Amino acid sequence: MKKTVKDIKIDSKKVIIRCDFNVPIKDGIIKDDTRIIKCLPTIKYCLEHNAKIILMSHLGRVKTDEDKTKNNLNVVATRLSELLEQQVTFINTTRGEELEQAISNMKNKDIILMQNTRYEDLDGKKESGCDMELAKYWSSLGDIFINDAFGTLHRAHASNVGISTYLPSCVGLLVEKELNALSYLFEPNRPFMIILGGAKVSDKIGLIENLLPKCDKILIGGGMAFTFLKAEGYNIGNSLLDEESLNFCKKILKKNEDKIILPVDVVCNDKYEDIEGTIKDITELNDNDMGLDIGPNTINIFKNNLSNAKTIMWNGPLGVYEFKNYVKGTNEVLTYLSEINAKTVLGGGDIVAAATSCNVTDKLYHISTGGGATLEYLEGKELPGLKNIPEK
Ligand code: AMP
Repeated sequence: MKKTVKDIKIDSKKVIIRCDFNVPIKDGIIKDDTRIIKCLPTIKYCLEHNAKIILMSHLGRVKTDEDKTKNNLNVVATRLSELLEQQVTFINTTRGEELEQAISNMKNKDIILMQNTRYEDLDGKKESGCDMELAKYWSSLGDIFINDAFGTLHRAHASNVGISTYLPSCVGLLVEKELNALSYLFEPNRPFMIILGGAKVSDKIGLIENLLPKCDKILIGGGMAFTFLKAEGYNIGNSLLDEESLNFCKKILKKNEDKIILPVDVVCNDKYEDIEGTIKDITELNDNDMGLDIGPNTINIFKNNLSNAKTIMWNGPLGVYEFKNYVKGTNEVLTYLSEINAKTVLGGGDIVAAATSCNVTDKLYHISTGGGATLEYLEGKELPGLKNIPEK
């Protein structure tokens, strides 16, 4: 296990915390502050231990001066001040005298948030390209580096990998929680079931290959099920097809016939629109049919298979959950999981969004905050953001 903030003396020290404050903002208003809330435990821990806290985060992409206005982190400082009930000083720059002066004037328990780290991308992608001069400069501003930005662990940026090259480093409490919950899937209580959905098979090949030997069954729905169904020889009509993954699907189905469960019926339409669809058996699709959700028999088969599960991992919605006519499969299975006694881990933006609007997030074991980072961790890859952080 990686060293955490609890393993390091931070009293009176200047701690740089890399957070993930990449929140959706519209017209200057934060639409969802979940990511800010998830970082609070580490910030509060540092406050309780008398540290001087320097917060860093990226926000969106910054390619033009217009992006700078759109992705200004000052609104996050305001929201943080409200949540922490204390002043969070916003410094409207990523380097220079104003920032250095503010940091050297800090007292214990003061909090500074500096401007969006990606402002540095305007000048030759210094942040995203992990410019080591920039990383060295940022590390000179603090004594200790705490990486709590789980969502960016799969990226090698100056503000994570870079700074951790130069400063004593550890992970924050959010990253610790994520790693513990996801590592549990590598040695799960059985039966261990995986639910996969979403659009593309190719994004999930690594995860399937890594977790297939460890799980008891994989239930596949969503758009990606149709590439598997086509590999089985069904006519999938106009449904989503990930042509380049067809051979992978054939190979994996041949080897794991009993482990992979595919839809037996779907709700389909001849248009990609939010209008009522028709339930069809998977053998009945014609050339114009587009499967947009799993059907009622498939929902029951999925529920039966999940009924005695001890561990469940789910990535990707089982239908076009953004359309109210095709959200039923995803919502029914989510609700079922909130009622049974299994440890369920959800990973990936879309299924987390579906679970949030279905009001089940607080009834599930763990909701992973990272999309790409979660997938890469479950694929068994080493996450660059963790590379320089020592083990306990
Ligand atoms: P992914 O990023 O691969 O997890 O895909 C998420 C997207 O898959 C969502 O936007 C869903 O609308 C989409 N999706 C799920 N099921 C289907 C389907 N049957 N046909 C088309 N798109 C789908």
